[in-house]
Amino acid sequence: MILPRDMQVVVLMGGLGTRLSEYTKETPKSLVEVNGKPFFDYELRLLTHYGFKRFLFLVGYRAEMIEEYYGSGEELGISISYCYDGKELLGTGGAIRRAYPYLEDDFLVIYGDSFMDIDYEETLCRYAEGLKEGRPALMTVLENGDRFDKSNVVVKDGEIVLYDKQNTTPEMSYIDYGVCVYRKELFTEFPEGEKFDLAVLQHKLSLAGKLSAHIVTKRFYEIGSPPALKEFGEYARHRFEEKRPAVFLDRDGVLDEIVFNEDIEQMDAPLKVSEFQLFDFAKEAVRLIREKGYYVFIATNQPGAAKGKASLKTLYDINAEMTRQFLADGIEFDMICMCTHFPRLLPYNKEPLLVQSCNCRKPKPGLILRPSDIYAIDYENSWMVGDSLTDVQAGQAAGVRTAFIGDLKCDACKKLCEVAPDVTVKNVLEFAEGLSKVADFAPRRSSTPAS
Ligand SMILES: [Mg+2]
Repeated sequence: MILPRDMQVVVLMGGLGTRLSEYTKETPKSLVEVNGKPFFDYELRLLTHYGFKRFLFLVGYRAEMIEEYYGSGEELGISISYCYDGKELLGTGGAIRRAYPYLEDDFLVIYGDSFMDIDYEETLCRYAEGLKEGRPALMTVLENGDRFDKSNVVVKDGEIVLYDKQNTTPEMSYIDYGVCVYRKELFTEFPEGEKFDLAVLQHKLSLAGKLSAHIVTKRFYEIGSPPALKEFGEYARHRFEEKRPAVFLDRDGVLDEIVFNEDIEQMDAPLKVSEFQLFDFAKEAVRLIREKGYYVFIATNQPGAAKGKASLKTLYDINAEMTRQFLADGIEFDMICMCTHFPRLLPYNKEPLLVQSCNCRKPKPGLILRPSDIYAIDYENSWMVGDSLTDVQAGQAAGVRTAFIGDLKCDACKKLCEVAPDVTVKNVLEFAEGLSKVADFAPRRSSTPAS
């Protein structure tokens, strides 16, 4: 696996922004103001949330303003280097080729005029898996159905089998999303100073079977035109400035069945996509919670890869399957927060980087608290819902209200009396039905302990 802190981020910021000319007369596109802040601040906030540390900004138009504003990045705890475009515009590929001496062996590429809200840890996991199978690049794609633009990608088994912007075909149902990862050496075949678009390289890689896919599900925002800028401004205000309460849902035993694991002869989280089975009331519950104006975050401990019981990729595949099933009914999660760590090294571990005492593994509160970097959350009126003692403990440590599901685990009953969840419900649907728009069905910390 590759961690964000070990991956360079290359940001394409050289564009002229001609369609935004009234805003970009004096200012480069990435610095166009959105609710009083430069646009790129929002994307940078996402990237630092995921742990990226080293950035290379490819700058051109009004480059000095960008460098003056972001400087070395020290104040943000990151490091930023700059590569200035020459006089001639070289296109996205040409600009990266020109920066060759500053590139690390592998790097992530994003656009400075887009807000791309994806799980970047998953992107790196899928890239690392692809590398092992001989694919030295990755493209993020969105299932599109011609929603935003013409679909231009065919995906099969985690691989982009065709990407073609020029000649689209009916079997294309995905669209390129704008986040890519590359091995540096892919750029040596282009002479320095030659103008080319990244799409040319990506098309070639797709034909050669060398492009991995990360399928993402949230729409992107860009600021290519005044209406798009206005749309993002509204979105950013809701998300970053206006606090909303959230419901944090544990996953297994809340939305999906716990399954019998024959290897360890115990009930356990699903460790294969085929084992994942939603409860029949799960979709209705999440739909209701969203309808009542709450964010819905998943907060799940998944130590399967750290314990060597499944690959990290499989853990992401299971979440992707869950997301797919909900989306089929138009229900979206705001974020899936997954702790993949385990504090002790076990004999079958293949991912030593996952062995750590983190602050995200429940009963610690990290999974609940971390999203506040990138969402304005009203914790006072938020909930943690789970079927384990550790869910209740994590919720309490984070200062949110807690709902405990079920009474199956009697070894936990006594302890539950001590930790006292705010409510006990039979399942997540009962919780969702009790949650009302104005006053929640349990006042803070006043209900009787579960018994
Ligand atoms: Mg659970």
